[in-house]
This record gives sequence, C-alpha cells and structure tokens, in this order.
Amino acid sequence: MKPESLFSLAGKRGVIIGLANAHSIAYGCAVVAHALGAQMVLSCLNDKALQFVAPLAEQLQSPLLVCDVEKEGELERLIQFAADRMGKIDFLIHSVAWAPLTDLHGRVLDSSAQGFLQAMNISCHSFARAARLCEPHLAPGASLMTMSYLGADEAVAHYGLMGPVKAALESLVRYLAVEMGPAGTRVHAISPGPVPTRAASGLQEFDALMEKAKTNAPLKRLVTLPEIGQLAAFLISDAASGMTGQTLYVDGGYHIVN
Ligand code: NAD
Repeated sequence: MKPESLFSLAGKRGVIIGLANAHSIAYGCAVVAHALGAQMVLSCLNDKALQFVAPLAEQLQSPLLVCDVEKEGELERLIQFAADRMGKIDFLIHSVAWAPLTDLHGRVLDSSAQGFLQAMNISCHSFARAARLCEPHLAPGASLMTMSYLGADEAVAHYGLMGPVKAALESLVRYLAVEMGPAGTRVHAISPGPVPTRAASGLQEFDALMEKAKTNAPLKRLVTLPEIGQLAAFLISDAASGMTGQTLYVDGGYHIVN
C-alpha cells in the first residue's frame, strides 16, 4: 500500500527521536509521516550515528539533531529547536531503548541496580521528560507515542530486563494520558512484533523469536517498518482524536494467540 493513499498529515509538525539507520522503527515512522505531508525534526544518538542518519534526514527534508537523552541539556535543546522551528508541536515519536548487555543477557534476578536504572532512565523516563518538555509547545489534539513490546505483558524468553522496563513504559503512558488528557493531548504506546533492527540484535536468540512470531501470528508473517509507521501516522491523525492511553499492537495478531 502506498502511504500517500492513507490520509493526509499535512500541517502536522512533530519530533521523532531514535533514528539509528534505515532499519530503525523511528525511520519507518518518519518515512510514512513524511509521505503523508508531516513536517518533522529528527534526532540520532551521537556524532557517530550522524553519518548513517544524515542521508536519511536529507531524503526526508528534515533537520537532524544529535540527542543523547542521558546527556544534560540535549533533550531540552532538541525540543526547543523543534518548537522554535515549527512554532507548535503536533506529535512526538519516542523510539529509544537501551540496556547494558551484561544486565540484558543475564537473569532479571541478577540485574545490577545501575544497569536497571540506566535502562529505565533511557528507555522509559526519557519519554516522560520529552512529553514534559513538549507540553508548553503542544498544538491542540497533539499525539505523543512511544514503542513498547509484548515482553511488557508476558515473560518473553531472553527479553530479560527490558520486560519490566517496557511494563513501566506502558504504565507511564496511562498516567501521562490521564495527566495530559484535559489539555487535549493524547498518549499511546505502539507495540510492534519483532523486526530486525540494531536494538533487536542485542537480544539473545532474536532469530528464534522472529521465527516463532512468523509461524504463530495469525497473519503468518512479520510486520514491516511501513506498517508500524502507518499505525503511528493514524495515531497522529485527527482520525484517532477519540483515543488515548492505549497500547496498540502491530504484530500480525501474535499477541492474541501466544
Ligand atoms: P534501533 O536500534 O534502530 O533504535 C533504538 C534507538 O535508541 C537508536 O536510535 C539508539 O541510538 C537510541 N538510543 C539508545 N540509547 C539512547 C540514548 N541514551 N539517547 C538517545 N537515543 C538512544 O532499534 P528499534 O528496534 O528501531 O528500537 C526502537 C524502539 O522500538 C525501542 O524502544 C525498542 O524497544 C522498540 N521495539 C523494537 C522491536 C523490534 O523488534 N525491533 C519490537 C518492539 C519494540
């Protein structure tokens, strides 16, 4: 399906955090949003990532900033830049996760406090911070979203530490939805099925996880980046104006049969 045939996001202005390369979910979302007419500011982690992401941002005619959410002032700078450039912010896509490999690969039981907190700060609390920073600049009916995974809800083998982190993220979405709803802001989590990305390559046995998803999902296949982007575009659009606080799966139906 051509994204252009969906609906229009003309006039929508947003920030997308978390592009690492052309396989990133954030990039999939950016491609669809761009095709539907949205204006965006994009971010990647650091100068090293710039070489991979700069050509993608150029292709999408969008400014690209470096933003490490752990570094003092970088998230602030990104959101302020977006607000200054675009006037108002209609959407935020937070597509960021990280955990130290030693903690990720071990038992959750053995995880270090430092690793757990760092994973929580980067992958969960940074969404609250980004939402708070966007708040003064949000347009009426703005839509904020983050990326979760089924491991939030079930103990998925090898998902380890990220399970409790994503569970906290989905809960955070509900609290932000309640707190920001009176101003008309909508907040969601998107929960994609497995897609081969750099973050996913940090998980042990990820190929087996993809194979299981492919075999068992009602649609008998993995989802694609454009399909994840299409859900994000729908949530940005006025067509989703009555929805907030949800975790929406885009996983070929895997979560209903697993
Ligand atoms: P990815 O590696 O392309 O994206 C992860 C991004 O997080 C990268 O751009 C990385 O630079 C960024 N990041 C890590 N630490 C950061 C920090 N300190 N500051 C700013 N950015 C930081 O992988 P992806 O799979 O596209 O991951 C995007 C989101 O989707 C993550 O939240 C991930 O958990 C989620 N997700 C992925 C899958 C999958 O199968 N790939 C499934 C469900 C959910």
